[in-house]
Amino acid sequence: MTAPSRRASTDAAPLDTWMKYGRCRETDPDLFFPEGRGGAITNALKQAKKVCGTCPVRALCLDWAVTTGQTAGVWGGLDEDERIPLRREHIEQRATGYARCIDAQELIERRVAEGRSHRQIGEELGVCHSAVGRAWRFFEAERQGQAAGEVLAV
Ligand code: SF4
Repeated sequence: MTAPSRRASTDAAPLDTWMKYGRCRETDPDLFFPEGRGGAITNALKQAKKVCGTCPVRALCLDWAVTTGQTAGVWGGLDEDERIPLRREHIEQRATGYARCIDAQELIERRVAEGRSHRQIGEELGVCHSAVGRAWRFFEAERQGQAAGEVLAV
């Protein structure tokens, strides 16, 4: 990973601290976002992936790119085409995890009252913590909607 300013994300997703440990910081950033066509691109991608192969934060990088939907460049050793199936899988898992959280509203509210974090609750339910967070925001919005409804009904 190069300096964050050189590796701008495609959707302005936040840049994480692990990036400062990326091997690509010591490498030509153009390798990771090659322009042009044909053999030059293939060579650049090959070299970029080689750098990723020695990177201590490769798994974090790939996970970040998939979860934030990076659509350009090499991240975590994979180019944009290679990340498409992972992205699809992530979206499916996210939808499934969210649905599971919605079904577990009572348990989630109990665990939050006990002081558990979304991460701990996610582990208990076997879903990503972000699914718990989204469901929690939905529950809160629902509660606020109910409260507003109660006020309006008075
Ligand atoms: S895995 Fe590759 S793109 Fe990601 S930080 Fe490491 S060297 Fe950079």
